[in-house]
Amino acid sequence: MDTYYNYSHVSQQGLPDFCFLEKVDEVEVLNNLQLRFQKEHIYTYIGDQVVSVNPFQKKPGIYSAETLKSYQNMYIYEVSPHIYALAQDTYKKLLLSKESQCVIISGESGSGKTEASKIFLEYISKVSTISSGGQTNTRPEIIMKHIIESNIVLEAFGNAKTLKNDNSSRFGKFIELEFDGAGVPISGKIQQFLLEKSRVHTRAIGERSFHIFYQFLTCKKITQKYGMSEDPAQYRYLKESLCYTAGPNINDQRDFKLVEQALESLKWTEENLDSLWRMLSAILLIGNIEFQADAEKVNVDAVQIQNPEVLKKVASLLHCNSLVLEKALISRSLTTGAGKRQSSIKVLLNPTQARETRDSFAKVLYDRLFSFVVEKINETIGNGIDQKQIESIIGILDIYGFEVYDQNNSFEQFIINYANEKLQQLFINLVLRQEQEEYIKEGIEWKNIDNYFDNQPIIDLIEGQPVGLLRLLDEACIVGQSGTPENLIQKFNQFFSKHKHYESYESTNNLAIDATSFMLKHYAGSVTYNLNEFIHKNKDPLYQDLINTLESSSDRLLLKIFQKDFQKNQVKKIPTTAGFQFKLAINALVGRLNACQPHYIRCIKSNDEKKAGYFDYERVKHQIRYLNTVETVRVRKAGFANKQHYSRFFNRYKLLSPATFPTWTLSAREGVMEIVKHCKIEQPNQPQECHFGKKKLFIKSAKTLFKFEELRAVE
Ligand code: ATP
Ligand code: MG
Repeated sequence: MDTYYNYSHVSQQGLPDFCFLEKVDEVEVLNNLQLRFQKEHIYTYIGDQVVSVNPFQKKPGIYSAETLKSYQNMYIYEVSPHIYALAQDTYKKLLLSKESQCVIISGESGSGKTEASKIFLEYISKVSTISSGGQTNTRPEIIMKHIIESNIVLEAFGNAKTLKNDNSSRFGKFIELEFDGAGVPISGKIQQFLLEKSRVHTRAIGERSFHIFYQFLTCKKITQKYGMSEDPAQYRYLKESLCYTAGPNINDQRDFKLVEQALESLKWTEENLDSLWRMLSAILLIGNIEFQADAEKVNVDAVQIQNPEVLKKVASLLHCNSLVLEKALISRSLTTGAGKRQSSIKVLLNPTQARETRDSFAKVLYDRLFSFVVEKINETIGNGIDQKQIESIIGILDIYGFEVYDQNNSFEQFIINYANEKLQQLFINLVLRQEQEEYIKEGIEWKNIDNYFDNQPIIDLIEGQPVGLLRLLDEACIVGQSGTPENLIQKFNQFFSKHKHYESYESTNNLAIDATSFMLKHYAGSVTYNLNEFIHKNKDPLYQDLINTLESSSDRLLLKIFQKDFQKNQVKKIPTTAGFQFKLAINALVGRLNACQPHYIRCIKSNDEKKAGYFDYERVKHQIRYLNTVETVRVRKAGFANKQHYSRFFNRYKLLSPATFPTWTLSAREGVMEIVKHCKIEQPNQPQECHFGKKKLFIKSAKTLFKFEELRAVE
């Protein structure tokens, strides 16, 4: 193993930690990464962070039971770089400090975040349930098993093949593993962020809808029961993007069996399962409803349903009245007047409006179904635990990665990339900025490293107050008539044409930017967004007539997921937009992450072709740059592995010196100095290992911290 102490084969294998580089620059970092990749080492440390390069192939043995075992109870510096080492470090810190931990996994679409999150979860699951003493089916084991099974279900419902990734996450996910005071997992919670629901009806050519649609169609038992064709090409929602298979590693039939098993294990009732498959069938058939001009209504642009048999089938699957459903698809109630004069009139929809209403219906059904799946999972893994029993958590954050397409980046990409900007900002704040500020504040000798790329201006551009892109978009959604893409782009250009991260049609020669697009220079690259559908997607209208149709349904699941929307005469609040809600959710998440001890996995995509073992130097260089990897290595290398308040350190280690234990009357700072001196940590020929700040002790290498631990264990 290439430990910190064994460099013998390092020259051929590459350095296991970038901090070992004598000279830290882009070329050295890249060369080391490439060498390691070629030698089958996909993981490299930057101190206690893990950089992971997606190999696009299964590496034999690296996730075997023996490998996993070899990381148990080891310190990160003793073992080859691995996500297991990071997970071990996270769990150990939870046990030692009783403080909540989180792992923040970042990288662009297809870089390996979701895989990394599963590897991390697997490790925590194994080590945190070991105390069950070899018994199976103990409560902690069942909890962890359920959490892993939940992941299978969520991937089926929330992941899809995109042009970037055959198994791309189309939602953000924060898994909380909840532990009692002894570090035993007692429950869990999953929070999801803004599913890319428009994928149900529209996506780019060559992409798929959510995996679950193709999966359940492979199950004869289900297709026969609900009278569905097994052929995905029979459904417009699946057919239009001309792609039915997700790539060589994805087998829908096999995966569906796993989903069924997981749902069974998660104790889904027959009734809920029946509703689930019925609703998925209904969603696919909604897409097949066609409209044609209503020949009887010559004076108005009205439609009628061309294939009433499909409509009837949808109504029967949703257990609702087909006549009411038909009305809701071809007309809309409008409320006029106010107070006692308020009345409702029906307006007929034109073909475009009718299609848009139909697609919105499919979309909202799927989105609510997805939320229901998450809610059910949370009921199960919540385990009926009293919150007071939870002492600490390990949070695992896996969101959709940064993505940019050659054409048609829309509201979804804007939200995804905004989320990635927020994570990058969090990383910069914690790892680069606050770390260095603290050294200076504490009076530690420190030469500032500040030439990293700071993305704060882009965040301000997006979520700034009183004017930011999100705010202007929200205004366009409220003002009704004037909220057209043309007006909105004018507003954007008016406010931001001089912003260094914004480019407009007028300010550029870039032919990709036309009159309804704008370009943002994100931390990870420039993206040209087409604004045409932003307003509609941000408004995210819920058509009340359709919802009311469902009120008469006899399906309990359906009634439950729309329960709140049935409440009539409720005071209509200003509708909150999708963007506004996302901003609230992502900022709350950042708050949660800030309250945990963070750990980082930085994922890198080795190439765009998903080619096994191919290291595209230029593509990796681009990612290294925007991830601020070189600067991170510099800060880590010059910085400290650990810092602790004097009182905390003193209380934990005072027994190491007879002078400080059992009694000590001077300050904690002086006590810590005495302990360090007594333990002979500082060697004359070594650089200084312990630095004494104003309030905290700073320890240079993890090795030293663990030495204190070992001494303590001996006492
Ligand atoms: P997105 O942002 O689109 O969700 P992601 O970063 O989550 O992307 P993953 O889905 O984790 O990316 O990885 C993409 C694919 O790359 C996987 O389906 C798998 O084929 C391959 N892959 C990722 N990590 C590894 C690994 N450690 N070993 C082997 N293959 C991997
Ligand atoms: Mg993913």
